[in-house]
Amino acid sequence: MEKRRIAILGSTGSIGRQALDVVRQHRDLFDVELLTANNNSALLVSQALEFGANNVVICNESKYEEVAEALQPHFIKVFAGMKSVCDLVTGDGIDMVLTAMVGFSGLESTVAAIKAGKAIALANKETLVAAGAIVSSLSRKHGAPILPVDSEHSAIFQCLQGSHGAKISRIHLTASGGPFRTWDKEKICKVTPAEALNHPRWNMGQKVTIDSATMMNKGLEVIEARWLFDTDPDMIKVVVHPQSVIHSMVEFEDGAVIAQLGYPDMREPIQYALSYPERLSLDNRKLDFAELGELTFQAPDTDRFPALGLAFEAISAGGNMPCIMNAANEVAVNAFLENRIGFYDISGIIEETMAGVDFVGEPDLETIFMTNREALDKARLNLNRHLR
Ligand code: MG
Repeated sequence: MEKRRIAILGSTGSIGRQALDVVRQHRDLFDVELLTANNNSALLVSQALEFGANNVVICNESKYEEVAEALQPHFIKVFAGMKSVCDLVTGDGIDMVLTAMVGFSGLESTVAAIKAGKAIALANKETLVAAGAIVSSLSRKHGAPILPVDSEHSAIFQCLQGSHGAKISRIHLTASGGPFRTWDKEKICKVTPAEALNHPRWNMGQKVTIDSATMMNKGLEVIEARWLFDTDPDMIKVVVHPQSVIHSMVEFEDGAVIAQLGYPDMREPIQYALSYPERLSLDNRKLDFAELGELTFQAPDTDRFPALGLAFEAISAGGNMPCIMNAANEVAVNAFLENRIGFYDISGIIEETMAGVDFVGEPDLETIFMTNREALDKARLNLNRHLR
């Protein structure tokens, strides 16, 4: 494999840190050109020094001085603000962009990278949730491939290698079920942020861990899969698989099902996206089937996990509805993390916001940004009625 020059947007988050661990294992194959972070200036500085980045961006402009003072003596160029991310990501020195920012805020820079024809390793699923139709058509227009990083989507992508374009009849998207899979509604009603952050299988950032606990994450992933693999959403089936060993499966018209397996470790799908189509070695835990003993499956329960049902509604409505749902979810998840609302208030706020923002059937990018702002405002208003 020829050496790849990469940009990591959101390098101090969970995916960003694990991506740099992949790079650490293959220093001869990857050059880190650009690192960006929102707030964590100390980690950004140490990453930039360790990997010899050429450029870094700290989005929080109040931390610029601190980062610049630490890095400029080492001839690393330092910038501030989201506008700088959007400019630098288009640079000639970059082959591939890993988008590992959290939430809707990742959309603008992802679009900038796609328009510059960069290969995208996509970890920011909210980009496709909010603007899937637009982002997919831009990716085709500018010849910018989108390689999935989300473990389920990497699994589907891996299952499709060697399928010679055979028609997919169904995608089986696996879900761990989160920490409350076996809990009844009354008990789930009283859960704390700490309990929700204690995910049984995956080591992830706070936002996606709460999304896993509500199962909204699986709804976001159905939408993500629908755009990545250009399939009818009805063909994507969610199945709860608590061991999280099968990362997802593809079923073909002859009934054959191809699955991708491994111990849950995000470094594997991150690495596959960065090295595709090559497969590299990885220092991780390998499967022991006799030790596993059994793998189990069950249907998802939208009664105990209403956020998943709302996601299904948003998918069938289409248009800007997934964007509305996503914005409301971001507001509600933050409020839950701050202990201002209860667990089921998250789905309550999403439902009220989905009903309260104007529906647009075929939004352009401008409309998506406007919808996002309106939905954030509406969700904050709705939030007030749910505060403890
Ligand atoms: Mg996932």
